[in-house]
Amino acid sequence: MELRAVRGMNDILPDEVEHWHRLETAFRRHAELHGYAEVRTPLLETTALFVRQIGETTDVVEKEMYSFERHGESLTVRPEGTASAARAYVEHQIAAKEPVSRWYYLGPMFRGERPAKGRYRQFYQAGCELYGDAGPLCDAEMIQLVAGFFQDIGISAFQVHVNSLGSGDTRARYREALLQYFTPMRDKLSEDSQRRLDKNPLRILDSKSQADKDAAVGAPSITSLLDEADREHFERLCHHLTVLGVPFVVDPTLVRGLDYYTRTLFEVRATESDLGAQNTLCGGGRYDGMIESLGGPKVPAIGFAMGLERILATMPRTAAPRGPGAYLLPLAAEGADKALLLARELRALGVTTEIDGRGGKLKTMLGRAERRGASICVILGDEVSRGVVSVKQLATRTQEELSLDGAARIIADRLRMSAATPASSAEPRGNR
Ligand code: ATP
Ligand code: MG
Repeated sequence: MELRAVRGMNDILPDEVEHWHRLETAFRRHAELHGYAEVRTPLLETTALFVRQIGETTDVVEKEMYSFERHGESLTVRPEGTASAARAYVEHQIAAKEPVSRWYYLGPMFRGERPAKGRYRQFYQAGCELYGDAGPLCDAEMIQLVAGFFQDIGISAFQVHVNSLGSGDTRARYREALLQYFTPMRDKLSEDSQRRLDKNPLRILDSKSQADKDAAVGAPSITSLLDEADREHFERLCHHLTVLGVPFVVDPTLVRGLDYYTRTLFEVRATESDLGAQNTLCGGGRYDGMIESLGGPKVPAIGFAMGLERILATMPRTAAPRGPGAYLLPLAAEGADKALLLARELRALGVTTEIDGRGGKLKTMLGRAERRGASICVILGDEVSRGVVSVKQLATRTQEELSLDGAARIIADRLRMSAATPASSAEPRGNR
């Protein structure tokens, strides 16, 4: 029997991980610049946490969770990060220690969905949660964080959609309005949505089925149901976004798939990608009721999560440096010891260094260095008996002899210089 990875779950091999690191580093930097600190919660939580917070009639809870029984307890591998973070926030009584908290997270999530490009069963999310501020100023700042992050990593073809779901009984009143609208066309809805109609008609607006999309064209808009305070909150959010110069569209059909949202909702969609229906790069919104519903104090909150696979599929890939900075080729027997010592010195200077100890003809070894993508080759042949090494820059094919004593520093300088010249790749080679 052939053993393979579980369907919808991907290996990420070292070649690819390089791009992940770049993305993750950029995300951490943006989050930290805005005052967010990382939180790490367990991958497993009690099933009840997700059922209660995300909502019993959502797609995630109805069909997508990996749940199992163990020691008489029902556990679920986390399908998202917001509920876990909120659980930790309440459990550790953070509200009593600080009035405002800014947390970010980064890690794998699990949902048993039908796999497609940009839709997997294990996927990675990065997200931020802000507790203790009712907005709308911080709502705008959070959206700006996301937009600035996308721009920074080279994604400029995106659109920000915003909407407000209101608060209090707005959602209940909207539910009624949708029920009245969709009931006469029940037969035209997808099977899923016929079920949703009685339990959670808002879900129909979030459906990916074309029949549902067609049916929803004339649906009532939630905007008309907002009360005075909700309306003002939303208007101020839009005003702040305009001041910040973040382009956005007001989209009254935006409802998103989870039940916990109140007031501000937003999504960032890629406008030029081959992700098809999976073009939502980031989703977020306010969830002012969650902390209290978990047994904590009345604390407003807002957050977002973005899918890293979809971002990686969208962002331009700068030619990342592939190989080591220095590649040492010991030819003579004496060269081996010198190579070991030189490699140690180079690494201490921050140069990625590999020794090719497999031996062979010089030509063969140079060929290996090329294939490895090295920047500089150091040949330790007969010349080491004279106390020198031959240093070859593979890009320019220039070769020089350097005294072994002091060679490491000069090689490190050469690498820094070649990284700084615009003709070479944008990132420093060998100093990653
Ligand atoms: P979608 O409408 O695409 O199913 P969603 O509403 O389920 O997304 P959220 O639960 O809000 O999305 O998750 C936030 C982000 O996480 C999404 O915008 C997307 O980028 C990413 N994401 C969600 N589900 C998956 C998945 N199965 N595979 C890869 N990325 C995902
Ligand atoms: Mg989904």
